[in-house]
Amino acid sequence: MVSQDIRAAAALLKQARSVIVFTGAGISTPSGIPDFRSPHSGLWTNADPMEVASIYGFRQNPAAFYNWIYPLAKVTLAAKPNAAHYAVAELEKFGNFGAVITQNIDMLHSRAGSTTVYELHGHLREATCIHCFAVYPAEPIITRYLEDRRVPYCPGCGSVLKPNVILFGEQLPIQQLLGAQDAARKADVMLIVGSSLEVAPASDIPLLTRRHGGKLIIVNLEPTPLDSLAELVIHADAAEILPQIVSSLETRV
Ligand code: NAD
Ligand code: ZN
Repeated sequence: MVSQDIRAAAALLKQARSVIVFTGAGISTPSGIPDFRSPHSGLWTNADPMEVASIYGFRQNPAAFYNWIYPLAKVTLAAKPNAAHYAVAELEKFGNFGAVITQNIDMLHSRAGSTTVYELHGHLREATCIHCFAVYPAEPIITRYLEDRRVPYCPGCGSVLKPNVILFGEQLPIQQLLGAQDAARKADVMLIVGSSLEVAPASDIPLLTRRHGGKLIIVNLEPTPLDSLAELVIHADAAEILPQIVSSLETRV
């Protein structure tokens, strides 16, 4: 059954004029980074994310935010791309590839070699001062925080630094969003990997592809609200399925 699905996915990707990939936290769980909504992932269970992971919560209590993001930051800095990220990067060699749109902040698509990546929810590459907007590389800041657990402050003005991740209540980065929307409208196949598709407005992007006549392929462990709109749904581990789809494409070239 799954091998039939893999062949069907490869056929859809091969026929497309423009393929894009849309990913969520599930593509990075095989790299050891927990997602938010899988049962027992832990990231949702110990704190109310609408409080600690919102811009209002951050401004009121940055220490609670840093305390909450600590496990994610720690595993993210240590994580490596997995077979699914590498398979996505390999899709670029087939000539009809548009872009990767990701909700992840872990930078693993770029590290796997994908060249056009729209990071809708920001990234852990940089941190910005909430007062003077000076930008600093995030890695040394996070590393120091992991050692001393003290909220990082701007060396220039003394205000709190915030990693460039988009919190609840914040606008998505406009250039990233416009680029992603444009790619989604042009795509005739969108491969969706490891997203519960429950976080708007990012989760509206597959609908743009659909509305413009494109087809959706979903690879996700659990059902999603868009399964009924998809051409093909594969409920399985992305790190197993994506390399098989790429191999199947290679044998068809
Ligand atoms: P989500 O946690 O809401 O959903 C993840 C989905 O992936 C689930 O439906 C789960 O069934 C599926 N999944 C888990 N492991 C999988 C695997 N190996 N193969 C296939 N499917 C798998 O994630 P989301 O939709 O991305 O939304 C969560 C929000 O949290 C996003 O905004 C994202 O920015 C942020 N987040 C990012 C990271 C990261 O950067 N790696 C990690 C956690 C949360
Ligand atoms: Zn400052």
